[in-house]
Amino acid sequence: VIRRIDYLGPMASAGGWRPEPNLPEVAFSGRSNVGKSSLINRLVRRRALARVSNTPGRTREIHFFGINELFTLVDLPGYGYAKISKARQAEWRPLIEGFLRSSPPLRGVVQLLDVRHDPTDDDLQMVDFLAEIGAPTIFVATKVDKLHKRELPARVAALAGVVGTSEEQIIPFSAHTGEGRDDLAAAIVSLVGE
Ligand code: GDP
Repeated sequence: VIRRIDYLGPMASAGGWRPEPNLPEVAFSGRSNVGKSSLINRLVRRRALARVSNTPGRTREIHFFGINELFTLVDLPGYGYAKISKARQAEWRPLIEGFLRSSPPLRGVVQLLDVRHDPTDDDLQMVDFLAEIGAPTIFVATKVDKLHKRELPARVAALAGVVGTSEEQIIPFSAHTGEGRDDLAAAIVSLVGE
């Protein structure tokens, strides 16, 4: 049960401000529009926790939230937004990768993939990067309510094949129905060790 959430602040550039590394950290990663804000809000059962990170001008920062004084939720900027230039898009890498590489309290990353689409090149770069740094990764397939139930197993298997994990390692999730919420919460709790 989430009793308490504190917005701790933003990190705007690699090596910039970050909260005291007192608590274990779990970062949330995905391309923009994958459903990350909706997932975070559903996970913490708040209507607009991730609103701050979705306001114009703040979407390219990393936002930190303290959850129950149990762990720090790290909302990474959504990458791969189609409407910005390639040069702008490339900006996400130093910030996201710099943070992930140099955060000692990082316990793992929740990597979101849209269940309906094959992972993009950006997704695959991110997945490779997470493997390279050895970050424990929880995969989540988002927006599963958009599929017919009978289509789900094949889509999850396809995603698992592309990112190189097994089907059981991917949590099907819907921010609209709440499916997968408890499984994701349990996976995070086991990452942060409570
Ligand atoms: P973000 O850019 O990754 O933070 O994505 P948002 O959470 O803002 O969601 C992007 C769009 O997808 C919005 O129009 C949401 O309403 C929609 N969306 C997010 N999660 C779900 C879901 O689980 N099911 C459905 N059907 N739509 C979703």
